[in-house]
Amino acid sequence: MKKKSLSLDEFLEGFKTKNRTVLARAITLVESELPEHQDLAQKLLQKILPATGKSKRIGISGTPGVGKSTFIESFGKFLTSQDYTVAVLAVDPTSKVSGGSILGDKTRMNELAIDPMSFIRPSPSGETLGGVARRTREAMLLCEAFGFDIILIETVGVGQSEVSVAEMSDFFMMLLQPGSGDDLQGIKRGILELVDMVVVTKDDGDNKVLIQKARHDYEQALHILRHEGWTPRVRTCSALEKRGLDTIWADINHFYDNQKQQLISKRQTQLIQWMDQLVKESLLKNFINEVGLDTIETFKEKVRSGELTPYQTSQELLKLYRYHS
Ligand code: GDP
Repeated sequence: MKKKSLSLDEFLEGFKTKNRTVLARAITLVESELPEHQDLAQKLLQKILPATGKSKRIGISGTPGVGKSTFIESFGKFLTSQDYTVAVLAVDPTSKVSGGSILGDKTRMNELAIDPMSFIRPSPSGETLGGVARRTREAMLLCEAFGFDIILIETVGVGQSEVSVAEMSDFFMMLLQPGSGDDLQGIKRGILELVDMVVVTKDDGDNKVLIQKARHDYEQALHILRHEGWTPRVRTCSALEKRGLDTIWADINHFYDNQKQQLISKRQTQLIQWMDQLVKESLLKNFINEVGLDTIETFKEKVRSGELTPYQTSQELLKLYRYHS
C-alpha cells in the first residue's frame, strides 16, 4: 500500500530528531514528479534552507571500474572512524529505472552501508541529466540540513554529468587508473579545469612504475591549471589497502582552510548557474508542452529535407508558442 506523505511539520520534526527514515522520505519527496509532492518539497526546502551550507561538498568522478565505490567505501569509513558523519549521493543520468542504479548503490559499499555514521542514497532516476542533477542537489541540501558533515557526490563521466557534479561541489576529485586508457588525452575538454584533485587509484601490487609515471604526467598537466590560488593536486591511493586516504583528507582540509573567500563566491556562482539551469529547463518543458511533440517533429522533418533552415524553423516554432507559467 502506498504510504501517505508526511506533513511539513512531520518532516521538520523528523529532521529535528534526526530520524533517518524521515530524511529518506524527504528525498523521495523531492524526487517525485507529482505536482502536490513538488509543492510540499519546495516548502520543505524553503524551511530547511537556513540550516544548509555547513557541509563539505566533495564531488568524485571516474569511469566505471576505476574504483569509485571501493574508494568511497574506504574513504567513507576513514571519515566516520574520525567521527564525521557522511552522506553519499550520486548523479547518474543513465539510471532510468526507479529504485535502482549503479551509482551510490548500497550493495557496492557493504561496510559503509551499515555504518550508523553514514547514509547512502542511489542516484535518482530520470530522463534528463538536468532533472537528475536538480534532485541530487536538493537531496544534498536535505542532507546538509539534517547535519551531515561531509557529502560525497559520485558520478560517472556520462555526458555532462561531471560538469553537473562539479557545479554542486566545493571540491571536485577525478579518479584515474593508469594503463586503463584513462590518460589525460582521454579526458573531455574542459573537465580538467574543474578538477581540484586527481587520485591515481590502485596504488598496490605490481603497479608501482606505472603509477609513478602517471602521477608525474598528471602533475605536469595540472600544474598549468592553477585556479584562484589552488593548484590541483595529484595523489595516489590504494582503497583496498587503505593507503593514501589520510593525505587526501589533509589536502581537502588544506583546501577548505585556504579557499574560504573563493568558496563563498564559488557557491554563489553555483546558485546562479543552478537558477539559470532551472529557467532553461522550465522554458523548454513549457515550450514542448505548448507546441506539442508532433508539431516539433513535423518541423524537424522540414529541416532535414532542407525545406527550412534551422533558424527559420526556430522562429516558426516560437510563433506557435505562448509562455504560460
Ligand atoms: P567503480 O566502477 O568505479 O565503482 O569501481 P569499483 O570500486 O567497483 O572497482 C572496480 C574493480 O577494481 C574491483 O574489482 C575492485 O576490487 C578493484 N579495485 C578498486 N579499488 C582498488 C584498489 O585500491 N586496488 C586494487 N588492486 N583494486 C582495486
